Amino acid sequence: MAARKVLRIGDPLLRKKSVEIEEDEVRTKEFKKLIRDMFDTMKHLNGVGLAAPQIGVLKKLVVVGVDENPRYPNEEQVREHILINPVITPLEKPKEGYWEGCLSVPGMRGFVERPSKIKLEWYDEKWTFHSEVIDGFKAIVYQHECDHLDGVLYVDRLKDIKMFGYTEEIDTEGKELD
Ligand code: ZN
Repeated sequence: MAARKVLRIGDPLLRKKSVEIEEDEVRTKEFKKLIRDMFDTMKHLNGVGLAAPQIGVLKKLVVVGVDENPRYPNEEQVREHILINPVITPLEKPKEGYWEGCLSVPGMRGFVERPSKIKLEWYDEKWTFHSEVIDGFKAIVYQHECDHLDGVLYVDRLKDIKMFGYTEEIDTEGKELD
């Protein structure tokens, strides 16, 4: 197990754009280790997703997945996925609102509205191309994680700065996400 250090808001690397991954790269030992480390890091911190820039690697790579996560008892399970070079196309106008959190903004939550339905295109670790229409909680998770690849954090998308604060102080009514 090799959980890596997660960068926190204020670190300039979190604001940089990530680069595309080449097909040859996914077969390397280093890449496989990177993916393992990302899952280890995410699980260690009970995250629902992690983007490579959060551990200081500026590549278009996201891992997601929760089986049973104590931090989101109310949400559907999100199967383990590796997203390489993901592209999101919103299919509906912003309307699904969640109290989002982020491993790079620890201890805080903020209310963000995002499109509730998206088209997600990506390559997996075997370099198979996928295209799927996704809605609900999963659609929000993928958008949050893919934002990291553009140097965007959820706090940039707060609907109202008054709807942002420490997790212990906020009544999120179960609509939570990190
Ligand atoms: Zn995040």
